[in-house]
Amino acid sequence: MKIVVIGMGQCGGRIADEFAKLNNRARSQRGIEIVTGAFAVNTDAADLSGLTAISRDYQHRILIGGRKTGGHGVGKVNELGAEVAKEDADKVIDAIRTTKRFYETDAFLLIGSAGGGTGSGSLPVITQHVKQRYSDKPVYSAVVLPFEHEEQTEERTIYNAATCLKSTYSVADAVFLIDNQRYIRKDSSMANNLSKINALIAEPFYSILCAGEEKKPKYIGSKLLDAGDIMQTIVGWTVIGYGSSQVPLMRFPGDRSNDFRRKGTETQKGIQAMDAAISELSLNCKPEDSRRALYLVSAPPREMSVDLIKDLGDYLRNLAPYATIRNGDYPRQRGMLDVSVILSELSDVEKIRNYYTKSTKMIPQMKRREEETQDKLREIDDTSRDIPSLL
Ligand code: GDP
Repeated sequence: MKIVVIGMGQCGGRIADEFAKLNNRARSQRGIEIVTGAFAVNTDAADLSGLTAISRDYQHRILIGGRKTGGHGVGKVNELGAEVAKEDADKVIDAIRTTKRFYETDAFLLIGSAGGGTGSGSLPVITQHVKQRYSDKPVYSAVVLPFEHEEQTEERTIYNAATCLKSTYSVADAVFLIDNQRYIRKDSSMANNLSKINALIAEPFYSILCAGEEKKPKYIGSKLLDAGDIMQTIVGWTVIGYGSSQVPLMRFPGDRSNDFRRKGTETQKGIQAMDAAISELSLNCKPEDSRRALYLVSAPPREMSVDLIKDLGDYLRNLAPYATIRNGDYPRQRGMLDVSVILSELSDVEKIRNYYTKSTKMIPQMKRREEETQDKLREIDDTSRDIPSLL
């Protein structure tokens, strides 16, 4: 599957940069292309300079809202992010048109954080514009949710997240939910290492995007996972994850591929990788709430049998009993058995519900505080009424 990736704001731009790196990897290691265009959109010029893989020209690193923000960002005001995105949406659409092999593109992926200003405000707006302009291609958004400490110290973060999620969901074909906090728990030394987190966020997409682009028969599995399968799966609230286990499997004397002991170990390794994928999903959710799912097994051809794919299918079916499940096998990896999983069309996501509930409670308080501030300012003005002005 080939995608155009557009990152908005600091977080979105950096993750789009990761996708550009994934494409370089696919090109050099596998001779295939998975990202036809990678763009970063920001109100902050300094953020755009920090990227490494996205082309440096102004049509790939796109500065918006220059007149309103002077190139210094929008603070945490996502309304301002949305406003400048509306004014400059054409800049982004014009830039997409320059994509060299645009006609090969299957879908768009737009990325931004929910808790900031530029990404949070511009993600829904640009999603809407891209959708209107390219109605024949699916437009997916990936929303990065804030760390817990950010939610606790700054109530604006929750309000931004709620408004961004609601607006993005209403225009995108699907919304990938990525919870920053999940990536800290895995390894606390990463707390401040956003670039490692960004690599972890992009990685699960690698095999899923590559599998359908292979042309050589030896890299094409018995069930090829192509763009059609992926597009049929991704709808509404969506999460993604992947896990791996070491192969080659332990060999037994006189080992044959159909030996019962070998089959047992193969299944065990596969389940281990799928368990890791499920427990490391990009957001904590209940798999039984998903209505569509897919899994892709990638491993050296010797380590992958039709039975393994079926056993994993049965395993996922138990976890997600109401989902239509699609699958694929990808005989490409060396020394590893990877399982990538997407759970989609989630009927409930507790974390999103909490953002909505908390913000709804917060709105009257925010209004009251704003009114109090205005009242106080008026009072000062009134007290100064008899003072002569120098102007
Ligand atoms: P914007 O530039 O105004 O859109 O603001 P940011 O993208 O910096 O948004 C702030 C939110 O994004 C906070 O929740 C940060 O934790 C998160 N964030 C900022 N940079 C990164 C990054 O590179 N990776 C990840 N995963 N999150 C980030």
